[in-house]
Amino acid sequence: MIWASGWRLASAVSNAGGLGLIGAGSMYPEVLREHIQKCQQATDKPFGVNVPMIYPDIDKIMDIIIELGVKIVFTSAGNPKTWTRHLKQNGITVVHVVSSVKFALKAEEAGVDAIVAEGFEAGGHNGRDETTTLTLIPSVKEKINIPLIAAGGIATGRSMLAVMVLGADGVQVGSRFVASDEASSHHLFKKKVVEAGEGDTQLTLKELAPVRLIKNKFYNDVQQAYENGASVEQLKELLGRARAKRGMFEGDMEEGELEIGQVSALINEIKPASQIVSEIMQEFEEAKASISEI
Ligand code: NDP
Repeated sequence: MIWASGWRLASAVSNAGGLGLIGAGSMYPEVLREHIQKCQQATDKPFGVNVPMIYPDIDKIMDIIIELGVKIVFTSAGNPKTWTRHLKQNGITVVHVVSSVKFALKAEEAGVDAIVAEGFEAGGHNGRDETTTLTLIPSVKEKINIPLIAAGGIATGRSMLAVMVLGADGVQVGSRFVASDEASSHHLFKKKVVEAGEGDTQLTLKELAPVRLIKNKFYNDVQQAYENGASVEQLKELLGRARAKRGMFEGDMEEGELEIGQVSALINEIKPASQIVSEIMQEFEEAKASISEI
């Protein structure tokens, strides 16, 4: 959700009854400070910050989170041991994002309060094992004793119910909120998400860090590089710097990297975040009622 989930989206989701998350990955420390402060002004409900640990300045990011009194942090793309103890000593609830049972167990051991298990369907950075949500959730549920939040492929009330039947205690929804009025994503990217259909996303660049993105010119260039037997160094060079910003924030639909989940095939309209939350909840309740009649 980098370049998508700033204070506008996070506060709108929290005000609608969800737990809004500010995606700190694309933010320099002082930009994050501004987003947290604006979010605090825009909602009196709980919200959190997601911190992918692959970015620079993580220590400054964590200092700001603690200084401004953020109560919930989701960490991802890194070792949960690095920050969990420090955050918890400062009264913060820590949730770590994983894509396998192995990493779920490591996160539990590191003392996190809950786990997000994210399946192969998910957009952006992803696991190497290609474990789908349908398999991942019950597998993780069997092994851990802390709350489990399912992610990857969830954009509707029915999919929310499905993963809760599989053992999830809650869900994390990303892609659906990219196509929201409040997302800071470029409008051309939102349009692209709405237009995406079956098979339009692919997991690629496993040699660097697996990422699911929309097939565009950049994706085709990566495929061509594979066909030419590109080395890891050549792939890195092709990726270059700030491809994600170029695509998702600046609106370059050809050369940019367009990270979104498979579930984009089910997203057909840009809507206010509050409507997305209420529609998911309504469909969830209706589906639950209809299933209990079976
Ligand atoms: P890059 O590492 O390519 O560039 C950094 C981006 O993050 C810039 O857009 C920059 O904004 C922004 N940024 C936010 N905070 C900071 C900071 N403190 N210092 C520097 N830049 C900051 O960013 P990506 O998001 O594309 O990739 C992140 C990581 O994931 C990289 O390690 C990248 O190699 C990897 N990656 C791997 C992929 C793969 O292997 N499949 C695919 C995509 C990324 P600004 O432009 O305004 O300076």
